[in-house]
Amino acid sequence: MPIFVTRPNLPPMEDYFQILHEIWDSAILTNNGPYHQKLEGKLADYLEVPYLSLVSNATLGLLLALKVLDLHGEVITTPYSFVATAHSILWNNLTPRFVDIDACTLNITPGSVKRAITDKTAAIMPVHVYGTPCDVNGFEALEKETGLPLVYDAAHAFAVKAAGRSIVQYGDLSVLSFHATKMYTTIEGGAVICKTPELKREIDLLKNFGIVDEVTVCRVGINAKMNELQAAAGLASLPYVEEARHKRAVADALYRRHLGDIPGLSPLQIFDDVNANYSYFPVFISSEAPVARDRLYTVLQSEGIFSRRYFYPLISQFPMYANAPGASPENLPVAAKVSGEILCLPLYHSLCHQEVIRICGIIRNTLS
Ligand SMILES: *Cc1c(COP(=O)(O)O)cnc(C)c1O
Repeated sequence: MPIFVTRPNLPPMEDYFQILHEIWDSAILTNNGPYHQKLEGKLADYLEVPYLSLVSNATLGLLLALKVLDLHGEVITTPYSFVATAHSILWNNLTPRFVDIDACTLNITPGSVKRAITDKTAAIMPVHVYGTPCDVNGFEALEKETGLPLVYDAAHAFAVKAAGRSIVQYGDLSVLSFHATKMYTTIEGGAVICKTPELKREIDLLKNFGIVDEVTVCRVGINAKMNELQAAAGLASLPYVEEARHKRAVADALYRRHLGDIPGLSPLQIFDDVNANYSYFPVFISSEAPVARDRLYTVLQSEGIFSRRYFYPLISQFPMYANAPGASPENLPVAAKVSGEILCLPLYHSLCHQEVIRICGIIRNTLS
């Protein structure tokens, strides 16, 4: 059996079928149906936020989060993320400006962002990479100082807390992804968390064509609605999130115990005062290691273990971004180095003890 980098945390089929049965009976399949409303409420409670709007996927969520702010000019962001982060900026006819990441958190920082602010800067879009919280207080201070709105790509950060506070309480808007590869899934899906009721109202309008009522359309909206089958998947799996988080934490600790002393390899550090979600298990294979990162990646593959080089290449290396401000490799030395060293090992709720031990054994043999 191949081992992929992740595996969806599916609820027991009966739980899902029970809700599907009710949906079939009601014949309400989408358009803010009862399960959509119920999931919005449950997630808002679970994530301790007042205003949350479900969307069909996080990419459209990011697109809309920028759209509601009615921006012109540049958005400062990270090159070290999934390409959807920057695509959401281009789709809004805005220009991404890339700044380098911190070598420890792998996130962009208030300091690097501040140095890149120009009179063209319209907003800041940091990413909580691998669920590691950005310096949210520093960014909050920067927003107060500059007035620049803050949109977090929180696609990796479901259920993460920093200093006891839900990470999606920060920023004007935060966007979560519920894609099948993420730790909590609605198959495809996402949520936009809004600071104010006005922002939620705007997102709700924009995700439904800008329709107010049968005869009134007030925005150039789009279709970014989550449907009832997605909401059902989300409702059925929500009760199993904490258990899955715990199982991931156990596998994470096991990896750390068995990889600790391999020369040239170091896992991403553990951060103080963070309630992590253990979404990923990234390790750095240093350029001094006896075997290169890409060689290890191939060896694992030949053993049926599919690790992933998240994030290689950098977004700034893709052709549509290569000429964007800040995209040159000289401007992004840390991101460039990390991108060449990083490897995400398999981590999911059902990854068992023996599998972790086997993966660690192969890595040890390859690197020694
Ligand atoms: C997965 C992901 C997205 C896109 O999420 P979808 O729900 O698949 O559209 C955006 N940003 C980051 C950082 C991601 O990892």
